[in-house]
Amino acid sequence: MNRTDTIVAPATASGGALGIIRMSGPQALAIGDRLFRSATRKKLSDAAGHTLLYGEIIDPDTGSAIDDVLVSVFRASHSYTGENSIEISHHGSRYIQSEILRSAIRCGARSAEAGEFTVRAFLAGKLDLSQAEAVADMIASTDRGTHALALNQMRGGYSRELGTLRDELVTLMSLLELELDFSEEEVEFADRSQLHRIMTQTNDKILGLIRSFSLGNAIKEGVNVAIVGNPNAGKSTLLNTLLNEERAMVSDIAGTTRDTIEETLVIGGIRFRLSDTAGIRRSDDRLERMGIERTFAAIGRARIVILLIDASLFDLQQTLGAIASLDLQQEQRLCLLLNKIDKLAPEAISAIRQTLASATSCDRILAVSAKHNRNIDLLTDFLHDCIDAAPAYNGETVVSNIRHYEALQRAHEALRRALDSLACGTTADLLAEDIRDVLYHLGTITGEITNDEILGQIFSKFCIGK
Ligand code: GDP
Repeated sequence: MNRTDTIVAPATASGGALGIIRMSGPQALAIGDRLFRSATRKKLSDAAGHTLLYGEIIDPDTGSAIDDVLVSVFRASHSYTGENSIEISHHGSRYIQSEILRSAIRCGARSAEAGEFTVRAFLAGKLDLSQAEAVADMIASTDRGTHALALNQMRGGYSRELGTLRDELVTLMSLLELELDFSEEEVEFADRSQLHRIMTQTNDKILGLIRSFSLGNAIKEGVNVAIVGNPNAGKSTLLNTLLNEERAMVSDIAGTTRDTIEETLVIGGIRFRLSDTAGIRRSDDRLERMGIERTFAAIGRARIVILLIDASLFDLQQTLGAIASLDLQQEQRLCLLLNKIDKLAPEAISAIRQTLASATSCDRILAVSAKHNRNIDLLTDFLHDCIDAAPAYNGETVVSNIRHYEALQRAHEALRRALDSLACGTTADLLAEDIRDVLYHLGTITGEITNDEILGQIFSKFCIGK
């Protein structure tokens, strides 16, 4: 990616009433002048930054008009990329878009590669790497949760937090390096208990960030919820009621929903990915067995499992067997959902609930009617309560990027090693080495330390024009 080039690309998808073409680089204004004739004859190269000019784009070869446009002018370094840039607002025809692009390229611009505007912004120091990644997340955000995460990261909340950690470690390093310089004299500049305190504090902060990934990942990828239960318990009906439309197949024949069906439901700004499974009963039918295998895979992935029980056919032993066969891990949440309560008297339902409450350790037992949409709000409340998204909405740092998560884990491992070394009274040079490692891994997150390969991987996921 050559930064002396002037790059051009559409910043909007075609199909809308308007489109924007973006151009950035040393020749952006000069190339713009060859394409654009303002209504007042003012040249773009004479215009101040952050101004808007009205006029027309003309074909540089024929001089004929292509479109009436508005051009925004941004001057280095007060632009997204830090370079001279223009943005051309044109009518949203695909033909007009390609004619303007063709003309710009004719005049010396080059088609931008994916993410190249943001790469330039990063290289110009307008944003750090984690902020650049947040730009992509911002564009991809689909709900309040993903938006809140991206916004906080883009605004640099995360970078500031990491910056503070780095500063403390750099101070530590400088003390240790001073010791190395005077190693002959065997003096200790760095008070070992102070080192221990700073390192432990830093480690705690890193661990806090690592832990936040559980929420960040749930928000970013969606929360997997498996709906399981015997055939005919009402799983498809429940899914339909939750989604309020008839997407899953509902039938009276046991075992018809053989495959898993996944649907998305947004509650409180969080995406829940609900999979309606094939059921967990044993079967000799090959197709059904495959469905059951997929059910267990879905259960394994799920953060929340809803075990649907037909209350009119309630059998304690069978339910206990079903709970045991789920083989849930400690971090997974279980909800026992008694369905078809319309078929039973309220006393019978209370009795079942009591039986279940005393026979299981499940903290959530709800009674609903999926078909008649009764108490379904209790279930959505339960889902909502399973994920505490407040940190994301309060602007706290929540790690949602797997690359950052891995770097934090490596930083934590290095810090653990450093703490162990400190406990064994290791020499300053070994200690410094581990701390340098911590700094390295933290630096990869914000991009103080980076290489073309990392940049290539990150920015290739961007769209053209960003
Ligand atoms: P699945 O096999 O678990 O997916 O079950 P279905 O959703 O296909 O439902 C099986 C049958 O139970 C259908 O006839 C549904 O209409 C019926 N059903 C589901 N929920 C309720 C309910 O709350 N009350 C009653 N009375 N019937 C229900």
